[in-house]
Amino acid sequence: MIYLDYAASNPPYPQVTEKMGELMRQNFGNASGIHSMAEKSRLLIRQSRKALADLMGVQPQQVFFTSGATEANNWAVKQAAVSGKRHMLIFAAEHSSVINSARYMAARGFEVTWLRPDGNGVLPVETVENAVRPDTGFLSVQAVNNETGVMQDVKALAAIARKRGVIYHCDGVQSFAHCDQPLKLPDFVSISAHKLGGPAGVGALILRQPERISPFIHGGGQELGYRAGTENTAGIAGFAMAAELAFAEREAEQARLEKLSDYFVSALKELEGRIVLNGEKAPRRAGILNVRFPDISGEELVLKLDRAGICASPGAACASREGKASHVLLSMGLSETQTKNSVRFSFGRDTTKAQLEETVKTIGIILGKGE
Ligand code: PMP
Repeated sequence: MIYLDYAASNPPYPQVTEKMGELMRQNFGNASGIHSMAEKSRLLIRQSRKALADLMGVQPQQVFFTSGATEANNWAVKQAAVSGKRHMLIFAAEHSSVINSARYMAARGFEVTWLRPDGNGVLPVETVENAVRPDTGFLSVQAVNNETGVMQDVKALAAIARKRGVIYHCDGVQSFAHCDQPLKLPDFVSISAHKLGGPAGVGALILRQPERISPFIHGGGQELGYRAGTENTAGIAGFAMAAELAFAEREAEQARLEKLSDYFVSALKELEGRIVLNGEKAPRRAGILNVRFPDISGEELVLKLDRAGICASPGAACASREGKASHVLLSMGLSETQTKNSVRFSFGRDTTKAQLEETVKTIGIILGKGE
């Protein structure tokens, strides 16, 4: 099988699954207990929090573990009220967990302005600057888009937010441990373990000023009372371990993925001159490519590739099952058909040139261009 869907989920590092299995077998103690196994769980959680905080450049007490980035994004966006203002600025190409949380807020009396990117998927900083009003309290703009790999200018956005007294939430899922962006600057940052070689179902929300925030899940007082629920100790330890491994190799890996991406795009264009890379002119994180085909729907191509043992995705994994046109590509001004004819290929640690050659050859056959 050739797996080209890393943006949906990375395969976990073998060391991580090994360690998690060991912890689940031997250290299953509830971290809230008072016996020694519970104490060991608490220590593991403390060490993991510190490891992630060090990688992010923040303090451990700013890191709150969640069940993933969907929860972290819900928590962040639903905190908009702490600003005391009712106008929110939300990037139109955000992950559905941000979009739908903002819609929830809009249904409860908040006013949402949706910020559109340019044709390459970039949100111009001036668009944000011009959209801030005296009653604007909250801004949400991701670091890297999960469908196109397009990067936003987190540093400039954080500076505008600080200057104008707006809370800035950044979904850092596709950036953290992958590329170099200043994720310590925004007020809230969401991250997820399974996008960097850890387990699914674990993430974190990083808060610059936790004292301003209210708890999201009420219960037994875990996570300093902000997010109750028995901690997923093995998952949290696996998250920190994976993040450290991914950080250590990220520069070399980005350079390698960049070369692979260049090869893949030029080979596809050689195969069929009308193929377009969506967001081609934008600054992009290596390893996420959104390719538009002229005469075939993304869904058909993905299903045919699957039959040939190749996994790709017609957009974000959660939206692709619904068969809806991608809101990310639509926000860039693509037509409904162009959007439906697009496929995301995302690469990672185990992707090789030979796999991409095989994929190009298979696409050639599907498009009737091969032998
Ligand atoms: N934000 C982005 C940019 C993502 O790519 C994803 C995963 N598709 C999420 C949030 C949600 O993360 P999780 O799967 O941990 O809930």
